[in-house]
Amino acid sequence: MEMIDLNRPAPTTEPERQYYFIKKVQEYVKAQSEKLGRPLTANITTFGCQMNARDSEKLSGILREAGYVETESEDADFVIYNTCTVRENANLRVYGRLGVLHGYKKKNPNMKIALCGCMMQEATVVEKLQKSYRFVDLIFGTHNIFKFAELLAMTLESDRMIIDIWKDTDQIVEDLPNERKYAFKSGVNIMFGCNNFCSYCIVPYVRGRERSREAKDIVREIEALVKDGVVEVMLLGQNVNSYGKNLEQPMTFAELLREIEQIDGLERIRFMTSHPKDLSDDLIEVMANSKKICPHLHLPLQSGSSRILKAMNRRYDKEKYLALAKKIRERMPDIALTTDIIVGFPGETEEDFQETLDVVRQVRYDSAFTFIYSKRTGTPAAVMEDQIPEDVVKDRFDRLLKEVQTISKEMSERFTGNEETVLVEEKNSQMDGYVTGRLGNNHVVHFEGSEELIGKLIRVRLDECRGFYYMGTMLDK
Ligand code: SAM
Ligand code: SF4
Repeated sequence: MEMIDLNRPAPTTEPERQYYFIKKVQEYVKAQSEKLGRPLTANITTFGCQMNARDSEKLSGILREAGYVETESEDADFVIYNTCTVRENANLRVYGRLGVLHGYKKKNPNMKIALCGCMMQEATVVEKLQKSYRFVDLIFGTHNIFKFAELLAMTLESDRMIIDIWKDTDQIVEDLPNERKYAFKSGVNIMFGCNNFCSYCIVPYVRGRERSREAKDIVREIEALVKDGVVEVMLLGQNVNSYGKNLEQPMTFAELLREIEQIDGLERIRFMTSHPKDLSDDLIEVMANSKKICPHLHLPLQSGSSRILKAMNRRYDKEKYLALAKKIRERMPDIALTTDIIVGFPGETEEDFQETLDVVRQVRYDSAFTFIYSKRTGTPAAVMEDQIPEDVVKDRFDRLLKEVQTISKEMSERFTGNEETVLVEEKNSQMDGYVTGRLGNNHVVHFEGSEELIGKLIRVRLDECRGFYYMGTMLDK
């Protein structure tokens, strides 16, 4: 990057424009720190999914580059909430916590509070913030997160609430700074947005239309990550199976995986999420033949009832899903299958729910995220008749959870005694002298070992399965 001259107008091209504003914020941070005699602090809180976690790493990269010191405490000079709105209770948590931030701001008048992410794409949310949360300084959405440095610079110079929400975008800005949470693994966006419009889901409305990154940009990013010590990547998209459809030169997700597999030094490839409606045979073959793609597939079911699946606009039925799961297991017997299930979708009867339990029993998931249906205004399901009473949903939810947990424990057992490779992720917080890592199939293992093992791939024997995790022994000491 060329030298940045702040006496000149800001460049009009990206990412140069954002680097110009990072420099501008750097000057502010330096001057303020000197005035206060201490570094300026920043805090990021992430709600929601892995996509948001990855976005927060981008926010973090910019804040650090600008000179802020990141802190765990929300009593900081700059606080940002990266919000989620997939379920109502995520929104409620944000409003609750804003009250606490207001208290901090009264003590530190220079404090700036920012909100971004999916929740901000909802007009009613922004109206409420404008009316009742005037102390918030900056609000932006999901489409212009690349502009964070510029918005931050504006916020630091202004006393007014700055709001910049875009309805949609086809822009993808590459090569901005980011700060990884883990040195040895990283999420990598391969696409943004979603075109599927499942009838309960708000994501297509807040994340916009599907856009894939160019394969060469993805490969270049992963190569750079590997040079920087990363051994495992998680490819991120709302439906990775439709990757590449809108590229000038279309390519499939399976083809992308083949290219990524070639990257020297990269040891493990994960991805999520895979929509069952278009998981191809080619993908199953690529996975089965790969040395790097982890034997784990997250295959959201949502419901086991074909009638409900139709109302959900999932575009597969119970039989198609079961046939797919069977095909995957036949080709890769050791694969771990995980899923997402929603209970209490409008019109769900006890019979429909029994169909869900039936799929759970037939597929036998290694683990499952279970959700109570949450009505999201603006989605087709929100205005469907026959919303299910809370007590009925709660009862079904409890029964589903019990079934899922019982099966998950039984499934975990099947690897006991195996020798496997584990990527060590962290020091064990409960047991001194132990570390915790993940197998390729995403199961968690605790074993005796020191901190130096973090980020390394280690052979372990799985001695004992304790419900949802293993106790193991390191083999190659
Ligand atoms: N794109 C991914 C897919 O299709 O599986 C999932 C994205 S969504 C953030 C993660 C999960 O949240 C979904 O799989 C679904 O189970 C759940 N979810 C989405 N909308 C929901 C709603 N309105 N109520 C309850 N759960 C919901
Ligand atoms: Fe939501 Fe369906 Fe898109 Fe997943 S595929 S993000 S559940 S609309």
